[in-house]
Amino acid sequence: MAKKHYEAIIIGAGSVGAPAAFWLAKAGVRTLVLDQKPSVGQGSNKTAIGGIRATHSDPAKIRLGLRSIEIFSTWKKEYGDEIEWYRGGYSFVAYREREERILKELLEIQHSYGLNIAWLDRDALLEVVPDLNRESLIGGTFSADDGNASPLLTIHAFYSHAQRLGVEFRFGETVTGIIVKGGRVQGVKTDKGEYGADVVINAAGPWARQVAQMVGLDVPVTPDSHEAAITEAVARFLDPMIVDIRPMPGSVNYYFYQHYTGQIVFCITPSPSIWGFDTRETSSFLPMVARRMVDVMPKLKNIRVRRTWRGLYPMTPDGSPIVGWSREVAGYLLAVGMCGQGFMLGPSLGELLARLVGNDLEPEDQEVLDHMSPYREFAGQEKLK
Ligand SMILES: Cc1cc2nc3c(=O)[nH]c(=O)nc-3n(C[C@H](O)[C@H](O)[C@H](O)COP(=O)(O)OP(=O)(O)OC[C@H]3O[C@@H](n4cnc5c(N)ncnc54)[C@H](O)[C@@H]3O)c2cc1C
Repeated sequence: MAKKHYEAIIIGAGSVGAPAAFWLAKAGVRTLVLDQKPSVGQGSNKTAIGGIRATHSDPAKIRLGLRSIEIFSTWKKEYGDEIEWYRGGYSFVAYREREERILKELLEIQHSYGLNIAWLDRDALLEVVPDLNRESLIGGTFSADDGNASPLLTIHAFYSHAQRLGVEFRFGETVTGIIVKGGRVQGVKTDKGEYGADVVINAAGPWARQVAQMVGLDVPVTPDSHEAAITEAVARFLDPMIVDIRPMPGSVNYYFYQHYTGQIVFCITPSPSIWGFDTRETSSFLPMVARRMVDVMPKLKNIRVRRTWRGLYPMTPDGSPIVGWSREVAGYLLAVGMCGQGFMLGPSLGELLARLVGNDLEPEDQEVLDHMSPYREFAGQEKLK
């Protein structure tokens, strides 16, 4: 029997693949999405805590972040689904001169890209976040337009709309090879069959390197374990996501916010990094992060933690995603290496991928694509990872 043919096949129904499927379908592209897991968003997407910001230090992420915020914040009105979007803002707090200097230096580029972000001195910051520990507090940035949403509800919204628009999803099916002839993709092989395609998009998250190797490309994406937790729900007392970028023994930074439904959700960036695919949570995470959080917000000492989990950042050497066409294999598109920001970047990146496939780029897209090029040097380091 002749294999079924699609205009685009997406490998991975995650934070990137599901929105990409939706935007491709909107553009009229006949699309198949394949995922090894039993349902949508079961890779890294379900481990994300839901933070959404345009407050980055890299212009490409700022642009994508701004567009993603537009999509998240208007989704319910536009498409009708509750995704628990809450515009509480983000606040990077400074208790030492080092962090004050870093955060103030970044304001210049952030303002040049139109971000609504300001430096607030101690008293002004305490008006926004009254429960911060006042001792040694210098101030912090506040970007009122950032926010958060539910990764679970968001991916289901993209998935169900994509399906309604005709995208086929096949779950529990692992891609095992990519069919290439004469330097051009022809389709994919899975553990269950073969499908033809003009374009194959690698949106395989932490597994992206293996999926790139299927066409002989080496893409520097490495799984990096991070743990997170959620508390019981309490009445709202906290609006912004609080980010503390002071490195301490055992951790680089940590961040927490109060979700739409009242719970505090938080995670920490371990130091040194924990590389690999192991997603069993540890007993060291909670005591470490709890100490840091209670230090910054003493009121949290009475709240009870309900659940912890561990997930994978698909990390790149410079902390920026890898997005663009392969030069070696025509029709093979990379949308990988989302690091700690795939949930927030996914909606706008999915739209950009649809423009790439439709050969319909907008003038500003080129700057984003240059920054995220698979062929860049990978020499720099993003400051707000
Ligand atoms: C603790 C924690 C907190 C986080 N918090 C945030 C946050 O607040 N905000 C934010 O934006 N991001 C956050 N992230 C990061 C975010 O989760 C990731 O960047 C994002 O989910 C990556 O999206 P992705 O689509 O690239 O990968 P995924 O969502 O993992 O999707 C990839 C999919 O590809 C499938 N796949 C892989 N290989 C194959 C194959 N061979 N065949 C078939 N299917 C395959 C997988 O099963 C998977 O479903 C957090 C991550 C962690 C761990």
